[in-house]
Amino acid sequence: MLARNPSTRRLLIVSNRLPVTVVEKEGNLKFRRSAGGLASGINAYLDSLKKASGTTTDYVWVGWPGITIDDPVLRDDLRSRLSKDHTYPVFLDEEDVDNFYHGFCNEIIWPLFHYFPSYGVYNKEYWLSYKKVNELFRDVITDIMQPDDIVWIHDYHLMLLPRLVREAAPNIPIGFFLHTPFPSYEIFRLLPSKWRKEILEGLLSADLSGYHTHGYTQYFLRCVLRILGYNHHMGQIIVRDRIVKARAFPLGIDFQRFRDTINDPRTKKKRDEFQKELTGLKIVLSVDRLDYTKGIINRLQGYELFLKENPEWRENVTLLLIVVPSRTGVEQYAQMKKQIEEVVGRLNGRFGNIGWTPIMYQYRSLSFHSLVALYSMSDVALVTPLRDGMNLVAKEYVASRRDQTGVLILSEMAGASKELGEAILINPNSEEEIADAIKQALIMPEEAQKTRNRAMQRRLQRYDVVRWAEDFINELLATKESQMDLIAKILDARARNQLLEDFKKARKRLLLLDYDGTLVPFARTPEEAIPAERLLAILKRLAASPQNEVVLISGRDRKTLENWFGPLQVRLVAEHGAWMKGEDGEWYMPRPLSAEWKPGVRPLLDMYADRLPRSFVEEKQFSLVWHYRAADPELGPARAKELVDSLVDFTANIDVQILQGNKVVEVRSGGVDKGSTALYWLSQEGFAFIFAVGDDWTDEDLFEVLPGTAYSIKVGISRSRARFYLNDYRQVLQLLKQLAELSEV
Ligand code: UDP
Repeated sequence: MLARNPSTRRLLIVSNRLPVTVVEKEGNLKFRRSAGGLASGINAYLDSLKKASGTTTDYVWVGWPGITIDDPVLRDDLRSRLSKDHTYPVFLDEEDVDNFYHGFCNEIIWPLFHYFPSYGVYNKEYWLSYKKVNELFRDVITDIMQPDDIVWIHDYHLMLLPRLVREAAPNIPIGFFLHTPFPSYEIFRLLPSKWRKEILEGLLSADLSGYHTHGYTQYFLRCVLRILGYNHHMGQIIVRDRIVKARAFPLGIDFQRFRDTINDPRTKKKRDEFQKELTGLKIVLSVDRLDYTKGIINRLQGYELFLKENPEWRENVTLLLIVVPSRTGVEQYAQMKKQIEEVVGRLNGRFGNIGWTPIMYQYRSLSFHSLVALYSMSDVALVTPLRDGMNLVAKEYVASRRDQTGVLILSEMAGASKELGEAILINPNSEEEIADAIKQALIMPEEAQKTRNRAMQRRLQRYDVVRWAEDFINELLATKESQMDLIAKILDARARNQLLEDFKKARKRLLLLDYDGTLVPFARTPEEAIPAERLLAILKRLAASPQNEVVLISGRDRKTLENWFGPLQVRLVAEHGAWMKGEDGEWYMPRPLSAEWKPGVRPLLDMYADRLPRSFVEEKQFSLVWHYRAADPELGPARAKELVDSLVDFTANIDVQILQGNKVVEVRSGGVDKGSTALYWLSQEGFAFIFAVGDDWTDEDLFEVLPGTAYSIKVGISRSRARFYLNDYRQVLQLLKQLAELSEV
């Protein structure tokens, strides 16, 4: 069993960029701390682990060092220098940086995930490079990975990586966190089919994937259902033989660090400097990276409208517009900068005068102390992204208000708006809403400001970045543990050997076999799921031994079973037990059943078949089945629930059972189920080995009545009364083949 406590296990953090950026200065390589929320957030978490355990936290960080180096000697040198800081570089060449980073990441995923689909450039070279770079990351990880590591992969640059690492280390805990929004299905599906499938499969290979908001998590789950066909139950998805989870973990900030910095002498000094320039003015602050998602132009238009409509505020307010350089060298960003500067110039020209500048503009990054100084002295923060995964600036502003005054205006398109509901929430596409919000903020009474900020601060303090990371890692390990519980039930080599041993020893053996989903895969329609030659051969060999009683218990009608299996020496049970084929080869009904109810119920099922394209009704002698396997993956289950509700009411006074099986709803005469059928066979004397295998809800009745020593096997992972699991029909056939071989010795 792996250790549960994260502080005793090594954390392997993977992100596109390392927490240090390497730059070349006069032929020497120098290290600089990387800016950004991810690096500072994770560092705060690592520090907290260190404090909690009193020892150095064991971690390693894998990422691109921000520089392209081709010389192998220089690479080795850098590798050894970085390893002293727990960091391991992934080296990319110029072409990778162009096609992977600037290309796939920033010209496809970034615009698409932020709802700018028209900016997407669907270039195949980009995709190939994205795959290649994810593999390069995998190679570095597999070089350094240890069995007890916890792997935590970050962000949209590395969405294929969980799968690559999983292939290399099937049991290692892998977590993935997405720092951007996850878009709705209609947007995500714009990715070519192969890409979108591989991306989702990549993400599903993580044991836990995390998103900033509940909404993004739901969008992800919906894409998984619509594109890959996996349903979820409260965020849990069963992917082949694994249970994985998707959940929201809203990224927090290092609240205490902001509080501590407000009164730091360096912050005070900066504040004094800035204030000298701004005496007597109300300050509206705007800080973001240069990016089209941030809505800077919309913000300026809103401010312009505010000045136009509220002349009394001119000369009394100023907008501090801080734009932090980002993705320099990209043409689109250079154009955006130009456009911003034009609007600033026009606005200052239109409203300003010698003594007053409506907008003070800076295109440069700020030191941490300058940033906190600005947060702590600004009356209003104006945060209006058109779409933003979270937006930390909004949270940092609120945290930096020691006296709890100040007003946050926040776009409802930012993930942060889900937690900061006391802010003035606006739609960034509306100049009027922005203008009105600025006015409302400037005249808001102090008490109202404090009430709002107090509530938000409490939340930010409680769910800070350390809690966020702890929560994620704990959930990852818990998910892993629940997988382990399941793995314990998988029919592993040991259990299989015991089964074969017991089979060999037993003089008389009973084998109860379900058909659909157990011996053959599901097909779109029942007629298509015909038994393969291989299956028939195995059954024939099994049935040939007088020691074996092979019983096929199926929901199929007797005609179909007779057709497929009639010539074999296996015993057949049709319609879940309504009909049995006797030793004399004649079909008989173990108990009298009525089908008088069918004409009354059929129209209801027909109505559902008409309403849901690609669903249909199958009629058997004692049951009616509505199939929706080929129908829309979301509508099918929803309609099935409605149908079951209607059936329950409709059939209240007649003796029928309503069953929800694998993509079917079945109504059948009361008094038959696989459990009672099994009891009939169990009452026959002398079976020293009992084996039952099935995949569906109806097989649970069968598993329930078996003695504890019986080998009951569920096909596919889900909650079950069976003792063991196998993944799919192929594994069942393999096992039956082994039993057939043993029967012949
Ligand atoms: N920030 C910075 N330097 C600056 C201005 C801001 O490092 O000159 C930081 C700021 O403190 C915040 C981050 O950049 O933590 C911006 O995060 P946000 O989520 O608001 O936007 P992103 O840039 O990640 O899209």
